[in-house]
Amino acid sequence: MTDTTLRDDESPGNFIREIVEDDLREGRRARIVTRFPPEPNGYLHIGHAKAIWVNFSLAREFGGQCNLRFDDTNPVAEDEEFVHGIERDIRWLGYEWGETKYASDYFEQLYAWAVQLVKDGKAYVDEQGLEQIREGRGSFHRPGVESPYRDRSVEENLAQLERMRAGEIEEGGAVLRAKIDMQSKDLKLRDPLMYRILKAPHHRTGTRWCIYPMYDWAHGQSDAIEGITHSCCSLEFVNHHALYDWFLEAIGVPAPPQQYEFARLNLDYTVLSKRALLELVRGGHVEGWDDPRMPTLAGMRRRGYTPEAIKAFCERTGVSRRPGVVDVGLLEHEVRTDLNARSPRYMGVLDPIRLVIENYPEGHVDWFDCPLNPDDPSFGTRRVPLSHTLFIEREDFEKDPPKKWFRLAPGAEVRLRYAALVTCRDVVEDADGRVVELRCTWDPDSKGGRSPDGRKVKGTIHWVSAAHALDAEVRLFDRLFTTESPMADEATSFLEHLNPASREVKTACKLEPALGALGPGERVQLERLGYFVTDSADHAPGRPVFNRTITLKDTWSKIAAREPR
Ligand code: ATP
Ligand code: MG
Repeated sequence: MTDTTLRDDESPGNFIREIVEDDLREGRRARIVTRFPPEPNGYLHIGHAKAIWVNFSLAREFGGQCNLRFDDTNPVAEDEEFVHGIERDIRWLGYEWGETKYASDYFEQLYAWAVQLVKDGKAYVDEQGLEQIREGRGSFHRPGVESPYRDRSVEENLAQLERMRAGEIEEGGAVLRAKIDMQSKDLKLRDPLMYRILKAPHHRTGTRWCIYPMYDWAHGQSDAIEGITHSCCSLEFVNHHALYDWFLEAIGVPAPPQQYEFARLNLDYTVLSKRALLELVRGGHVEGWDDPRMPTLAGMRRRGYTPEAIKAFCERTGVSRRPGVVDVGLLEHEVRTDLNARSPRYMGVLDPIRLVIENYPEGHVDWFDCPLNPDDPSFGTRRVPLSHTLFIEREDFEKDPPKKWFRLAPGAEVRLRYAALVTCRDVVEDADGRVVELRCTWDPDSKGGRSPDGRKVKGTIHWVSAAHALDAEVRLFDRLFTTESPMADEATSFLEHLNPASREVKTACKLEPALGALGPGERVQLERLGYFVTDSADHAPGRPVFNRTITLKDTWSKIAAREPR
């Protein structure tokens, strides 16, 4: 695979967009209709978001329409739960569609077309076993062998097809095949299957059907029924293209849809296969489809990613036919960029140690009006209390500081953000030598954090007043996998590459009181610590639970500066 690392000024383009533009300008189409066709057998991931964005944004840009159609042709793996999950995720991305459509709505029409193909001598019922059919198809190097059932009469075919539909033939006892060309170089054209018998109830059609259309027979015809003009799919469908066209020509629809294939989205350090994601969930390696470490849209939502960031990422990575792997750092960069613009700033301490200001009157409180976003006054302000006892971050103190240490150390002076200058006078340790408290003094003339006499105080740290602090649980996340391509090595399971430290739960965190008003799913920046969101399931006003969406440090500029590998 080639690397598709992008420079900041690079735009990868969108070749499908250009095709649509030409088709409209040159009058080949009066209007565009696209569709997103998920199989309801799992939750959507960021790769699906790419396909959703491709289809919905084209329709939106050119004043057309994009349908949501469930490709529900395999009754065994499908479930109503997934239908609702998928609808919710697409709405969350900000897209609308008309009535939800289902391939199963077209089963009757598909069957009628199949009968027509049989009558036209273009399809036949094959009663060889599936193994024999597979064997007879041959391979790239071995020509196919025609089935002994290939030339049975139209009447016989119709009778057998009806028996298939009526449930008179057992599973595996017969299939309907298109009669195309067993010598074709294109293996898909060697008399592909159209129907198989599956005596399984379907989540929508119940027990009405016991024959189900194959993907290739259902897909293009569903597109035609809906008047789809541009049927966009990922590159692995290239080898279905000729068959897609053959079926449409055989049924004879006017202005048939055209299929266009684009390279699917791959991300490093990430698995994007529903099968693998299902394994993570079923195996208990994550806490569910919406675990914040999952690359699912449900997981990203719970993690605090925004739909805007995800769509910006889709746009940024473009639409091309060149397969590649995108740096997950680019997605994180888009998330940071968006969160930076929208998140109010607060203070919180993840790993607290106590800081006592000895010369600050006990019981006294100074309230400061602090900006919710120093770069954007329209965010307004919140009130932050200063008092005698505070919490600061354990890592902002160093007993034996290295050179150029600007944070707190014995004898050193720092700025408490927005509040005051304090100097560390004494360090209290427990029996094990662990720091439990810092005894400090403040300069009462530095109220608001300004240096009263021009003396330089380089370090500024965050803090929270102990008496006013909210106790919170904060969940920190790292990448779920430790290797760039967890699925690359076929000999080892991707599960072996799971990062054992991908989730850390901190339970004794201290937050400034203004954060007490947040409901679930609200996003903030905790200064110096990153972007956070209140957990959509576990957060409650009296019991704050935050997920860290992402740290503040952007690795993307580093990545962007690197030469393409
Ligand atoms: P997976 O391969 O992850 O199991 P799928 O392709 O089987 O997913 P579908 O429900 O069939 O899942 O996908 C719906 C649409 O999403 C298809 O048109 C497919 O091409 C597209 N799609 C799936 N994964 C990606 C991806 N990584 N990048 C772009 N499009 C994708
Ligand atoms: Mg698929």
